[in-house]
Amino acid sequence: MSISIQFLGAAGCVTGSQFLVTAGDRRVLVDCGMFQGSPEEVERNHLPFAFEADALDAAILTHAHLDHCGRLPALVKAGFRGPIHGTHATADLAEIVLRDSAKLQVEFTDRWNRRHARDAEKATAAAATEATARETDDESFPERLRNAPPEGRTYTRAPLYDEADVEATMQQFRGADYGAEIAVTDGVTAVLHDAGHILGSAIVELRVTDGAEPRTIIFSGDLGRDGSPILRDPTPISHADHVVVESTYGNREHDPHDQAIEELVAAITEVSTDEGVLLVPAFAIGRTQEVIWVLDELVRDGRIPRVPLYLDSPMASRATTVYHDHPETYDEETAALLRSGDSPLEYPGQQFTDTVEASRSIRHAKRPIMVVASSGMLTGGRIMHHLKDFLPDPKCTLLFIGYQGEGTLGRRLQDGGRTARIDGQEIDVRCRVRSISGFSAHADQHELETWLGHFGADGRPKTVFIVHGDPDAAEAFAARIRSGLGMEAVIPKHRETVTLT
Ligand SMILES: [Zn+2]
Ligand SMILES: [Zn+2]
Repeated sequence: MSISIQFLGAAGCVTGSQFLVTAGDRRVLVDCGMFQGSPEEVERNHLPFAFEADALDAAILTHAHLDHCGRLPALVKAGFRGPIHGTHATADLAEIVLRDSAKLQVEFTDRWNRRHARDAEKATAAAATEATARETDDESFPERLRNAPPEGRTYTRAPLYDEADVEATMQQFRGADYGAEIAVTDGVTAVLHDAGHILGSAIVELRVTDGAEPRTIIFSGDLGRDGSPILRDPTPISHADHVVVESTYGNREHDPHDQAIEELVAAITEVSTDEGVLLVPAFAIGRTQEVIWVLDELVRDGRIPRVPLYLDSPMASRATTVYHDHPETYDEETAALLRSGDSPLEYPGQQFTDTVEASRSIRHAKRPIMVVASSGMLTGGRIMHHLKDFLPDPKCTLLFIGYQGEGTLGRRLQDGGRTARIDGQEIDVRCRVRSISGFSAHADQHELETWLGHFGADGRPKTVFIVHGDPDAAEAFAARIRSGLGMEAVIPKHRETVTLT
């Protein structure tokens, strides 16, 4: 019997994590993420699955970020009826993420359909005008107009999934504890280890029995960093036959955490002196809770003035509630703070903005203020109207604290772009734009290498597959693994199948 992995996402790019493990007639999917970023990547979400969804035995989810769980409801819609394994916290967070995503899918599809209906109408009208001027059987009649949709018909597209699909998906979730053995399917077991990336995030240890000897495949998922707030450090693993490892920062080192704190203090002091606005684009899940944890600490230690904070993301607020629900996953420091009566997941006097009106009226708030809003890469969400207000204002600071994907507005501004196009409007960038890399939720090159270094002499993987990274990052990391650790490193291509020997 042969065991293989097919790399169906996050291969040659960061998003869309999806790995199909086949052992004989058994099939297990690890992650089923959404492609995000450039329009070409997003379009991949609409392609059919590369396998029969109803022939899949089970799915395992590393964590609740959209690029890891976002296509699960589409999988269920396509006929998958098996269990979805993940930690309890992952199941809770995934519900928030997927419900939000379903709403966006429906809205996005409506817009897409309206736009195409308008185009079709125009084409039909143009064809009609042209037809009255010429005979339609005239050979010179333009091909373009011949192919216009028949009158009264438009091209429409259904949403990837809707809330009912999410409802069905949630029924298939099976929450697990870290360290517990999960019976996945015949001859396949899994153990989830803390990945320290976001609440509930897991490294998946998959054991596949192949005749005599079981084989172990480790999926790193997204790996967090040692010493980051709230969460425990990523679990060191010492034995595997094969490892699939992320490489988001495979070619970069983050600044030390202390330096990140210094930079944050400087940015807050600056807007406080200027009576300006500190605008922080944040990912609703993970980043936001960590930043608030840090801000709470800075106020407690008297290192920053108590600048009012607006948490302008209903999804982030809901995620914070889930963080509250899972103290079993906290690190010792956060657990001790809780015992002492502090509420480290809250900034003193923070204001939630539930409605869009409340969000829009932040522009009139008495300054200085801090605003934390999503989306983190400026690809949509409430941050967009804040950008219109604050980008042209020299007293404001746009502060990036997370990864900015290639092709996103966030990356363009981070790289020094002086204009931004938002809702068809050209906005001048006159505010300060700063980036702090030390708050990343991802291990950097050195930390990834350290984690791989835990595989001992008798547990060394035969192959390390490098995924979840832009090509430069993956290449650089592969070179490090080969030279520094002496392991065989492979960068699989999108949709490539590798048979494990
Ligand atoms: Zn993640
Ligand atoms: Zn990810």
